[in-house]
Amino acid sequence: MTVTSSVEAARAGFRTAFGREPAGVWSAPGRVNLIGEHTDYNEGFVLPFAIDRRTYVALAAREDRTARVASAGDFDDREIDLGGITAATMSGWSAYPFGTAWGLGRVGADLDRVGGFDAYFTSDVPLGAGLSSSAALECSLAVALDETWRLDLGRDRLVRATNLAENQIVGAPTGILDQSASLLAAPDAVLFLDCRDGTHELVALGLEEEGLTVLVIDTRVTHAHADGGYASRREACERGARTLGVRALRDLEADDLARAQQLLDEETFRRVRHIVTENRRVLETVATLRRRGPRAIGELLLASHASMRDDFEISVPELDRAVESAMAAGAVGARMTGGGFGGSAIALVERAGVDAVTEQVLAAFARAGHEEPEIFAVQPSAGARREQE
Ligand code: ADP
Ligand code: MG
Repeated sequence: MTVTSSVEAARAGFRTAFGREPAGVWSAPGRVNLIGEHTDYNEGFVLPFAIDRRTYVALAAREDRTARVASAGDFDDREIDLGGITAATMSGWSAYPFGTAWGLGRVGADLDRVGGFDAYFTSDVPLGAGLSSSAALECSLAVALDETWRLDLGRDRLVRATNLAENQIVGAPTGILDQSASLLAAPDAVLFLDCRDGTHELVALGLEEEGLTVLVIDTRVTHAHADGGYASRREACERGARTLGVRALRDLEADDLARAQQLLDEETFRRVRHIVTENRRVLETVATLRRRGPRAIGELLLASHASMRDDFEISVPELDRAVESAMAAGAVGARMTGGGFGGSAIALVERAGVDAVTEQVLAAFARAGHEEPEIFAVQPSAGARREQE
C-alpha cells in the first residue's frame, strides 16, 4: 500500500469505528536488525533499520478518561478507563496500545489530566514475522499521544515508555531494540544503539550507491516471544553474567571466554559465547560500513547466523534453508533476524539479482517441503512521524 492510501484507510476505519473524524494520522515502522541479536538485554550493541512497512494510527482525543482502540483485521474493539491499566486487567492485542498509554504515565505524563482517546490502527507490517509489528503499534500510538496530549516527552523517553509497556503490561521481556528502531531510525541508515545507556548514532548504509537491496524472507514459522525459548535464553545470559561476576555480558571480551568455559556448563558457555562474539561483530560491522561500505559486511552476517544456529540455538531449519539458499543464489550475506524460533531471515543481494535469489529460495523451500516463504525487498526508512494529510 502507498502511504497516501494507508493514511486514507486509517481515517476511513476511524470514521466507521467511532462515528467522527480523527484529529490526525501518525505512523511508525517495523524494523529488521542488520546484526546484533539478543545483545540488547545483555546491555550490548544492536544495528537495526526501520523498514518501509508501517502501522498507521488515526486518533482523536476524548473529554473523559476512556481509551477506545480498534484495529483493521481480526481484532476486537476494546475500551478501558485510563486509570485502570495493569498487567492483570489486560489481555490480547489491546495490551500493546493500553500499555503504551500507561507507559507514557510512567515517564512523565500526568494521565489524570490528559483525558482519553479513540484510536484506529491499520498496518502492513506482518504480525509475528520478526519485523516488530508490536513496536510499530506501540510507537505509532506513542507519537500520536505525545503530540495530542502536548507532552513533548522527546524520543528517548518514548522509547522507555513503549518498552515498559511491552515488558510490564504485555509481559514480554524484550529489550529496547524494537522501539528504538521504530522511533529513532532514518532513511538509508542503520541505528547504532548501545543498549547499556541508550546512546545512539545513525550510520549510513549506502545500499543505493552500491546497487544493493535487502530481501526479507519471512518463513511464516510463528514464534512466541513472551514465553519459552526467549525467556530461557535470557535466563542463561543472566546466569552467565552472575557466575562470571559482571553486571551484564556486555562487560566480557573475547579474552574472557577461556575463563567462562571453565566456570560454566557447556550449554551456558555457548550462550555466553554468542553474546560476546555478536557484540564484537556489531562493532566490526559499523567500522566496515564506514570504511568499506555494505558490500564488505557479508562475512559478518554469515558468522552471526552460524553463532545463532550453533551457540545460541535459536534458528530453525526454515531459517537455515533461507540463508543457505540465498547464499547459493549469489547473495552477499544473509542471516536470521529477530528473536528466532521462526520469523524472518534477511539477505543482502545485488539489485540485479533479486529475482534470481527469490526464485532459488522459493525452489529450495519447495524441495524441502517447507511452507512457501514470503519474500520482499525492504528500504531503510524514516522512524515514527505524523503523516501529512
Ligand atoms: P512481532 O512484533 O515480531 O510482529 P510480537 O509477538 O511481538 O511479534 O507482536 C505481535 C502481536 O502484536 C500480535 O499478536 C498482536 O497482538 C499485536 N499487534 C501487532 N500489530 C497489530 C495491529 N496492527 N493490530 C492489532 N494488534 C497488533
Ligand atoms: Mg514484537
